[in-house]
Amino acid sequence: MSEPAIRLTGLRKSFGAVHAVDGVDLEIADGEFFSMLGPSGSGKTTVLRLIAGFESPTAGTIELAGADVTRRPPYERDVTTVFQDYALFPHMSVLDNVAYGPRVRGVGRRERRERAEEALRSVRLDGYGARRPAQLSGGQRQRVALARALVNRPRVLLLDEPLGALDLKLREEMQVELKALQRQVGITFVFVTHDQQEALTMSDRVAVFAAGRIEQVAAPAELYERPASPFVAGFVGTSNLFAGDEVLGRPGSFALRPEKIHLDGNGDCAAPGTVAEVVYAGAFTRLVVDLDAGPRLVVLQTSAPGLDALRDRPVRLTWNSSDLIALDKE
Ligand code: ATP
Repeated sequence: MSEPAIRLTGLRKSFGAVHAVDGVDLEIADGEFFSMLGPSGSGKTTVLRLIAGFESPTAGTIELAGADVTRRPPYERDVTTVFQDYALFPHMSVLDNVAYGPRVRGVGRRERRERAEEALRSVRLDGYGARRPAQLSGGQRQRVALARALVNRPRVLLLDEPLGALDLKLREEMQVELKALQRQVGITFVFVTHDQQEALTMSDRVAVFAAGRIEQVAAPAELYERPASPFVAGFVGTSNLFAGDEVLGRPGSFALRPEKIHLDGNGDCAAPGTVAEVVYAGAFTRLVVDLDAGPRLVVLQTSAPGLDALRDRPVRLTWNSSDLIALDKE
């Protein structure tokens, strides 16, 4: 039986009256790409810092590969952290930046140079070793920061919003690269982000945080298709949330994804309403529809001529009852 890479048990961290982490139990498997997703202030960064050993918990334990490291300092934990601001040394070359960790650990000149070059190759920056960080683009600097972490060959890489400073296009490219890199090196990645799309794109599993607790842990598709709570349904993707007795004539709270609703299609549920807004967004157009029964629903349509003319017009919305997500806990 192999131990999980990380096991958190009853983890709590308070800063005075603020319960930043309020009882977290979690196991992350060896080699997993695991994301911690949640709004600002939900405690994800604090959990990461607890794993790294930069904070010590108010209660609970942290195990790495089965060993209890709760009371051990950061340098006695086999984890490396990549920060959002990269923390590169501006006066050193890229190669020296990457070779810094092995140098501090007393690895000989020749070997650390070889290791640094190998790490730079793995992030596709071979040939950039002689440059200074200032002579690189944002995405390249991010890759140097990754190489600098990988060169230590940790068992676990902790990444705190590492793509946060990049523009959207570069960010999307780096998401694909990071995932490929993780597969290639086989290291456990724990990735903190507040961007749900990013978490869904890259992760094997995602933990959704709210107010210092985990709301749900699941694979991306399950999180999207079977959110366990109204919070998860609203935070992961866009959801229409409504009370069943208003719209469906039965009790309970429900979520319905905008792409599952059609204009006068042939689903087994239907509701009349009036289009309040038509918002063009490139490939898709969002219609905001006020149902006669009360709730306001967002409907996603493939953009097409004529949609704009629907503003203020009555429409009939349809969907399949199998697409409804029931949110009430048993
Ligand atoms: P973000 O996405 O903004 O980084 P987060 O989910 O990572 O948010 P944390 O940084 O873990 O959230 O913070 C959780 C809570 O703990 C917040 O209310 C924060 O203000 C508080 N907190 C974090 N660190 C400290 C500290 N050193 N002293 C006091 N309060 C802190």
